[in-house]
Amino acid sequence: MNLHESEKAAGILRSLGYEECDKEEDADLILFNTCCIRDNAERRAKGNIGAAKVFKRVNPDLIIAVMGCMTQQDSAGEALARKFPFVDIVLGTNNLDKLAECVENVRSRRKRSVLIDPCQNPAICEDMPVYRTSGTNAWLNIMYGCNNFCTYCIVPYVRGRERSRTLANVTDEFKRLIDQGYKEVTLLGQNVNSYGKDLGMKNGFATLLSEIAKVNGDFRVRFMTSHPKDLNEEIVDIIASSKNICNNIHLPVQSGSDKILKLMNRHYTRDYYLSLIQMIRSKMPDCGITSDIMVGFPYEEDEDFLDTLDLVNKVRYSGAFTFVYSPRKGTPAADMPQVPAEVSKRRIIELVNTQNRIVKEISKEYEGKVLRVLCEDLAPKGEGKVCGRSECGRMVTFDGDKNSIGSFYDVKIIHSKSASLFGEVIK
Ligand code: SAH
Ligand code: SF4
Repeated sequence: MNLHESEKAAGILRSLGYEECDKEEDADLILFNTCCIRDNAERRAKGNIGAAKVFKRVNPDLIIAVMGCMTQQDSAGEALARKFPFVDIVLGTNNLDKLAECVENVRSRRKRSVLIDPCQNPAICEDMPVYRTSGTNAWLNIMYGCNNFCTYCIVPYVRGRERSRTLANVTDEFKRLIDQGYKEVTLLGQNVNSYGKDLGMKNGFATLLSEIAKVNGDFRVRFMTSHPKDLNEEIVDIIASSKNICNNIHLPVQSGSDKILKLMNRHYTRDYYLSLIQMIRSKMPDCGITSDIMVGFPYEEDEDFLDTLDLVNKVRYSGAFTFVYSPRKGTPAADMPQVPAEVSKRRIIELVNTQNRIVKEISKEYEGKVLRVLCEDLAPKGEGKVCGRSECGRMVTFDGDKNSIGSFYDVKIIHSKSASLFGEVIK
């Protein structure tokens, strides 16, 4: 989501004549896109903003701007402007469309702008210029905001309520991207399964996926994120029956303990979640299922953590993002009793080790199998090697060169190392 927002900001800046440069000291403008989902993201952003002051000393005309959800927390934008007086522009999550105007104001009269609208129900700004930098994949927002108020999460406070783009706007942009030659499009929303509810659509995401599946061409569609409470059988049936929609679902569980899930306000139980996994696998045995998992949420005891480990062992995710709970001011969980840091640390290490072992085992199971891979880039290591993801989301490295990028290949997996697969092109 943030990457795509940076692409929009880059689109706006390019329309003003700016181009990317490699070094901060050469820049006429530095724009920080921030995130406040966890404390370390926020600390890093503040550290980087503070460090940018030196570039302004060398180049007094340098424009420094800050955007993204960190600015939108309760009076955080104003506090940021006070703490960093050398920052020229601070924009809230729904003020990105004003970036050009703010830059012009600084350029022409050094006018400082701190624009942070309340994010309750802002209109969706269509047709923002986008400078795409994500190679073969294009990001496509289908909706903004979130209604779920998981008790740990800051997103609904800094991104506002769910607002879906219309079906026509989404499908038009999708078709344009395919016409432009993108081989993969990832649909974005905090909870894509509730797409269209605010527009009065019934099962809007299923409708959207079936519309997109009708588009002609050799392409792939991914989407994220799915909330388990809203993923239904109709959606899974469409994914299973559409050749262009990847058998790959990111379905964050957060915890395997019913007690913790309830405290998190997730609206599903562990059994319900496991029944969803079973339903998905009965329709798509090869589906890559990934997750977000948290440890150290308030009141989490050893037995709750063991429930999480047990669930991870049962589901056998093909990948997982694992986090230590980070209290976010203004969210209900921040006022609950906190788990000591050393306990969370012990748990995250055990969780990561468990998940790594599972991924390694799953990787071994792929050896000898053939996966259809979209070549995305030159491999980071190895001359004459390229890499790309399989339909189920696994990264595969194989022989190729820059001309291979953007094409699909059938690759036989020869060997594996942890999460990485290595293969030979057979077609
Ligand atoms: N809307 C998505 C993703 C939200 S943010 C979803 O519901 O899954 C991505 C992930 O960050 C979450 O899934 C959660 O695991 C993690 N996260 C959110 N708030 C957090 C917090 N306060 N501390 C630690 N991890 C958090
Ligand atoms: Fe945050 Fe929950 Fe919304 Fe995801 S669904 S963005 S975790 S509140």
